[in-house]
Amino acid sequence: MTPSSKKHQSGRPVIMANLLVRILIYGYGCFISYFALKTQGAALWPIIAYTAWIAVWIAVAQWRSAVSLHPMRTEFRNTLFDGFNVGVALNLISFDLYPTVVIFLGYTHICFAFGGPFFFLKSAGFLGAGLIIGGLIAGVDFVFTRSVPLYLLSIPLLALYITIIGFLSYARYQVLRRKEALLKRQRDLLEEANKKLESASVCDYLTGLNNRRYLQQMIGNEIALTHRKYESFLEGRRETPPQEADIAFFILDMDHFKTVNDTHGHEAGDAVLVQIAEILRTVCRESDMLVRWGGEEFLVVGRQIRRQQATVMAERIRSAVESHGFVLKAGKTIRCTASIGLAIYPFQPESPDRMNWEQVVSVADQALYLAKESGRNAWVAVLPGPRAEEKFLSRLTEHELAELVAEDILRIETSIRDSSRISMPRK
Ligand code: GH3
Ligand code: MG
Ligand code: MG
Repeated sequence: MTPSSKKHQSGRPVIMANLLVRILIYGYGCFISYFALKTQGAALWPIIAYTAWIAVWIAVAQWRSAVSLHPMRTEFRNTLFDGFNVGVALNLISFDLYPTVVIFLGYTHICFAFGGPFFFLKSAGFLGAGLIIGGLIAGVDFVFTRSVPLYLLSIPLLALYITIIGFLSYARYQVLRRKEALLKRQRDLLEEANKKLESASVCDYLTGLNNRRYLQQMIGNEIALTHRKYESFLEGRRETPPQEADIAFFILDMDHFKTVNDTHGHEAGDAVLVQIAEILRTVCRESDMLVRWGGEEFLVVGRQIRRQQATVMAERIRSAVESHGFVLKAGKTIRCTASIGLAIYPFQPESPDRMNWEQVVSVADQALYLAKESGRNAWVAVLPGPRAEEKFLSRLTEHELAELVAEDILRIETSIRDSSRISMPRK
């Protein structure tokens, strides 16, 4: 189908409806005009000639629309020319009051409903032109036939006009409704696409977990909530730090992951990472943030938790990884372990502002280093010690760690039973 024939198709119902309307209105209009002239005792040949012309015009209008590339535009033009015919007809019946009022009001208001006020004015212009030409041909005369049958015959024409105006209003309303539904559908699709885009920008493509960008976006609110919960404690209105107000940062790093890749291939490594994400989803609370921190490293952010529960959670994660059989593509199952470093925000509950969350994450990173150095498949937490208040800790370098632990400024909690295995970084 060519584009032009497509357009023909789309305008076809309108063309057919207009043909029907033209036949009905012109047909009945000619009949009343004939009746009016007969009642006036005037000559009938002008209305017979006019009716013949109208038959030709209906055929021409129909043909013009059918062959037009823009049938609707052509229909608008045809409707304007109808105005010219109306003007001539009113002259023919010498402006006999009742049929004139019905035909004039009917035609102009159909134009209003069809094309709006501007189109209405244009149609009035064509009607005026018809009046002038009609007047020049037949002369201007005014007759007022007091004939009850003529009044009665005018009523169906009025009803026809009103029906058509009602139908046009209804059709316009339907078009608007369809457009509105289409717009709504487009809006929904756009919203959906935006959501996908947004989630893609904060999601890791392999595991479906969140990425660092997501953490950056969300962590501010979390920190603010923790600070709010700590307010009454810091202002001395309560004696103990608030419960379920801390943020635990767990950094998990797969042990000897390079070996997994080297032995089973990169794809197998990917499958392990996907399963690690599933394990984290299972063992962590729905409210915790799970972030792929990079490569085979993950950051779990335990939101608004009880400080004492963090180590329990670390053990839950560690043992879940250790006990999982990682299924590879060929149906083969392998075992993997992970090491976890833990630190809690606020690092020192008595002075929450001393270390910001990034510094606490770097403490968790050092704790992870200890876990790795001490044999792996373990968790290590670096926490403030009994004498933490004696030192202003705004950041922690790895060389200070052993010293600060020895001074009780820091303390280590770990899953490693034999503490002599914990190897502190040396200066
Ligand atoms: P360690 O116990 O000390 O952490 O040893 P490791 O081998 O896990 O540590 P290392 O950092 O040397 O190696 C990490 C490996 O993780 C190297 C890299 O190829 C692999 N890796 C990082 N990202 C991906 C990934 O998206 N897919 C796969 N399959 N491998 C990855
Ligand atoms: Mg690593
Ligand atoms: Mg590793």
